[in-house]
Amino acid sequence: MTADLTTDVLVVGAGPAGSMTAKWAAKHGAKVLMIEKRQEIGSPVRCGEGMSKAWLSDVGITPGRWINLEVEGARIYSPSEKVFEINEKHAGNEVGYVVERDEFDKQLAIDAANAGVDVVLKTAATSVLKENGRVVGVKAKRFGEPFEIRATVTIAADGFESQVGRWAGISTNIAMRDMDTCLQYRMTNVDCDVRYCDFFLGKVAPGGYVWVFPKGEGLANVGIGVQVSQVKAMADARNYLDRWIEHHPGYAKGKKIDMVGGGVSISAPLKQTVGDGIMLVGDAARMIDPLTGGGIANGCIAGKICGEVAAEAVHAGTPTKEFFQKYEVGWRAVLEEKLYRNWLAKEKLVQLSDETFDKVIDALQGVRLEKLSVHNILKAVNEKYPEVTKEFEAFL
Ligand SMILES: Cc1cc2nc3c(=O)[nH]c(=O)nc-3n(C[C@H](O)[C@H](O)[C@H](O)COP(=O)(O)OP(=O)(O)OC[C@H]3O[C@@H](n4cnc5c(N)ncnc54)[C@H](O)[C@@H]3O)c2cc1C
Repeated sequence: MTADLTTDVLVVGAGPAGSMTAKWAAKHGAKVLMIEKRQEIGSPVRCGEGMSKAWLSDVGITPGRWINLEVEGARIYSPSEKVFEINEKHAGNEVGYVVERDEFDKQLAIDAANAGVDVVLKTAATSVLKENGRVVGVKAKRFGEPFEIRATVTIAADGFESQVGRWAGISTNIAMRDMDTCLQYRMTNVDCDVRYCDFFLGKVAPGGYVWVFPKGEGLANVGIGVQVSQVKAMADARNYLDRWIEHHPGYAKGKKIDMVGGGVSISAPLKQTVGDGIMLVGDAARMIDPLTGGGIANGCIAGKICGEVAAEAVHAGTPTKEFFQKYEVGWRAVLEEKLYRNWLAKEKLVQLSDETFDKVIDALQGVRLEKLSVHNILKAVNEKYPEVTKEFEAFL
C-alpha cells in the first residue's frame, strides 16, 4: 500500500513545462513533488525535436549534450517548391537546435531534482481533491495502487491531453479546427541539408505542413501536421505523409526506423489558466504556437513564472485564484500577443489555396526583411500581388 503524501507544490507531468515549474518553485524555497505517469521521463519521444535557442538562458537552461545539431535557419517551400529562406533568429520557435528530446526532458528533470524536487515515476493523477471548491491535491495511482497527494498548490503540466485542468473545473475544450494531428517518421539514408529545418506548405498537408528536421548522417525527422477539421480520418495524416515521401526521391529512397504520432493545439490561448489551488502550464494551458506547432519554449518560459508564483503563494499562504493572477498576467505579458497574432494568421493560412501560397513565396524571392513579421511579409507580397493581400487587410 502506497502511503499518502503531503507537499507544498505538486506538479503533475514531467515534461519540459512541469520540470521547469518544479525547478523554479523549489529554487524559491517550496517543497516540491513532481509525478509522472510514464516510467521514463522523455520517452517515447513524440516531437520533431526542433527548438529555437534565444530563450534558453532566460529560463536558466544551459546548452548540453541534448543538442543534436545547430541549424542556420529554415526553408519554407511553396506547393510548387519555390523556397524562402529565413535565418534562425527569425524562423520561429522550432528552428535553432535539433535536439535529442528524451535527453532534453531528462536534463530538465535532473535540474529540477538538483534544485530539491522529489520526482516520482509510474504515478498518475486520476482525479483532483477539492475542499470548499479549492483544489488541494490529487488522487493518484502508483503501480496500480491508489493513494492521495495533498498539496497547497497543484500544477497541471500534463500535456495536450490534459485532464487535471478539466477535473478542476477549468474549461480546456478545443475545437476541431484548433487541433492538428501529427505523424512523424525517423528516417535514415535521406538527402536532407543539415543546415536547415525544412517546411513544406499547401495541400500536401491541409491546414498544416510537412517538416524535415535533420539529425545528421543521413538521419532526419520527417513529419506532418494536418488540421483535424480538414481530414476525414486520423489515418489521413499517414496517407498524406507517405504521398509526400513518395514524390520526393531523396526521401523515397530512405528507410523508416521509427514512427510517432500525437496531437498539438493550434488554438488561441485558454481564457483562464488558474483556479483556487491550481495553475495550468505548457500544452495543458494550450501554450503551443498556433502557427508553428512548437510548444517547448513557451511551456518552459511560462513554467518559470508559474514556479515562482507557486512558491510565493506557499510562503504567503494564499493559494487562491486571485493570487494566481500574478501568473495569469505574467505569462500573458510575455506570450499572449504573439499567440493571438499567430492564431489569427493561422486562421487565414489554413484557407489559402496552393496558388496563393505559391504567390506569397514567389513575392518573397530576393526580399530582405528587416524583421520577420506577418505585417512585413504582407507588405512584400502586396508589392507584387496586391490581390493576395486583400483578404489580409486587417493585418496591414
Ligand atoms: C509529433 C509532434 C511533434 C512536435 N514537434 C515539436 C517541435 O519540433 N518543437 C516544439 O517546440 N514542439 C513540438 N511539439 C510540441 C511539444 O512536444 C509540446 O509543446 C511540449 O512537449 C509541451 O511540453 P509540456 O511539458 O507542456 O507537455 P508534455 O511534454 O506533453 O508533458 C506532459 C507530461 O505529463 C505526463 N502526464 C500526463 N497525464 C498525467 C497524469 N494524469 N499523471 C501524471 N503524469 C501525466 C505525460 O506522460 C508527459 O510526460 C510537437 C508535438 C508533437 C505531437
